[in-house]
Amino acid sequence: MTIRELVVISGKGGTGKTSIAACFAALAERKVMVDCDVDAADLHLVLSPVVTRTEAFQGGWVAINDRSLCIGCGDCTIYCRYGAIMDFYEIDPLRCEGCGVCAEFCPHGAIEMQRRDSGSWFLSDTPHGPLVHARLNIAEGNSGKLVSLLKEEARKIAQERGYGLIIADGSPGIGCPVISSLAGASAALIVTEPTPSGMHDLERISALTAQFRIQTYVCVNRFDVNREMTDGIVDWCNERTIPMIGKIPFDLDFNRAQGAGTTMAEFSFGAASYEIAHIWGTISREL
Ligand code: SF4
Ligand code: SF4
Repeated sequence: MTIRELVVISGKGGTGKTSIAACFAALAERKVMVDCDVDAADLHLVLSPVVTRTEAFQGGWVAINDRSLCIGCGDCTIYCRYGAIMDFYEIDPLRCEGCGVCAEFCPHGAIEMQRRDSGSWFLSDTPHGPLVHARLNIAEGNSGKLVSLLKEEARKIAQERGYGLIIADGSPGIGCPVISSLAGASAALIVTEPTPSGMHDLERISALTAQFRIQTYVCVNRFDVNREMTDGIVDWCNERTIPMIGKIPFDLDFNRAQGAGTTMAEFSFGAASYEIAHIWGTISREL
């Protein structure tokens, strides 16, 4: 069975990306939701998940000094570029980047590399179907690896249940987690806003989706806050034949829906909610 994947992305946080992805969760049928924004996961706040499965995520490595073998020669302090070797050759796990150089060069084999617990991932039931999400421990890296894992689990669940659609709330920015969010996607919706930084981020993120050859759509959130800038974004999209499929007006119901722990699509029947339904209609017809 072919599984289509839509990723909702933005060049940075705060554009309303998650609120829109949550609306799609309420509007779409027979799909698996994934929260790929693992550094600041918040889709679960409006989808009322009941966790049915919890798994540890071991994203990297950490060095451990076996004191019974260490003779205190100090070589490891010379090799560690991250200042992770502390007094008495103890290793600070928060500074250790898991590169393994100290273990390689310790002349007495005193350092062992162990898997590091970097967080957890979850499968949950929600009123809108299954949600795959995660919690990354503070200061942990490897978020791209975790996003790949979440997407892989979502694909398995979609296969098992015979669902033909995955909707991902992508990571913000253009770094490693976003690239993992986009890998294998059928389509991307870029949510932008009518500000200079919104325009700049749109340029950067659309270059990324073009590189991946992913069908890309754009919508402008809070378009009426700066109509001139919105017109500029529309022109920019038209010049590049990137479909501009919606302009969502500013609406305080976004905040009220979040406060109520639900999606805008269920909370409000105003113009913003209507426009999001229209956007979903366009994407779902083309997916
Ligand atoms: S290099 Fe090995 S033996 Fe030397 S201080 Fe470091 S851990 Fe101990
Ligand atoms: S694994 Fe790398 S970062 Fe960690 S203590 Fe050893 S040399 Fe330093």
